[in-house]
Amino acid sequence: PGFNIAIDGPAGSGKSTVARKLAQKLGLLYVDTGAMYRAVTYLVLKSGIDPADESAVTAFTQGLRFSLVRFLPKGVVDLWCNGEEVTPYLREPEVSRRVAEIAALRGVREHLVRCQRLFARKGGVVMEGRDIGTVVLPDSEYKFFLTAAPDVRLARREKELLADGRHFTKEELRREMNYRDEMDLKREIAPLKPASDAVVIDCTSLTVEEVVAKMLRICRG
Ligand code: C5P
Repeated sequence: PGFNIAIDGPAGSGKSTVARKLAQKLGLLYVDTGAMYRAVTYLVLKSGIDPADESAVTAFTQGLRFSLVRFLPKGVVDLWCNGEEVTPYLREPEVSRRVAEIAALRGVREHLVRCQRLFARKGGVVMEGRDIGTVVLPDSEYKFFLTAAPDVRLARREKELLADGRHFTKEELRREMNYRDEMDLKREIAPLKPASDAVVIDCTSLTVEEVVAKMLRICRG
């Protein structure tokens, strides 16, 4: 059994890129929990359920089965849900707009946390999200919390979305990120915060390589 690494932080802190690289370097499985909340949101919207209808959303979510499909040697991991590949739809603007609302629902979180723990039960994952160190894997061997200045986070998200071929205005993106940050910080269940034993890394003026190197030094002792 291997060890687990928990990485949390707000949108655009650079945690996805860093987590993927770290997993690759250490030969661990990369698990993006934000993708799971996005998948639920995408499937709820697609099935015509009102995202504000908590009991309908909860019942629907409990019927979802997730699997990770890993492509070697690059370590790219795709998320499948009930036999459907959902990865291509997770960055759609409507999904980004509604995901924080869905992620605030208790029943949704309970189900996803259970699934996430199953992925990590044998150890050997780098899991990335908002509540991994605090709720999902409080016993993970290593915990990191990444932060970055708001402008840097916005610029990073912009670059990611452009690379993904998305069209948007900077103002739209700023509003969406502010709204999501606010919802994630203020929600009642599992709000975004560093675990008391997390190593906090401010990524404002560090490159991806520098952050990964810092983490590797800690994980390799
Ligand atoms: O990581 P990403 O930005 O794709 O996450 C999308 C949304 O999913 C977050 O804004 C948050 O509302 C929710 N989320 C969460 N808990 C996690 C991961 C993501 O609530 N562990």
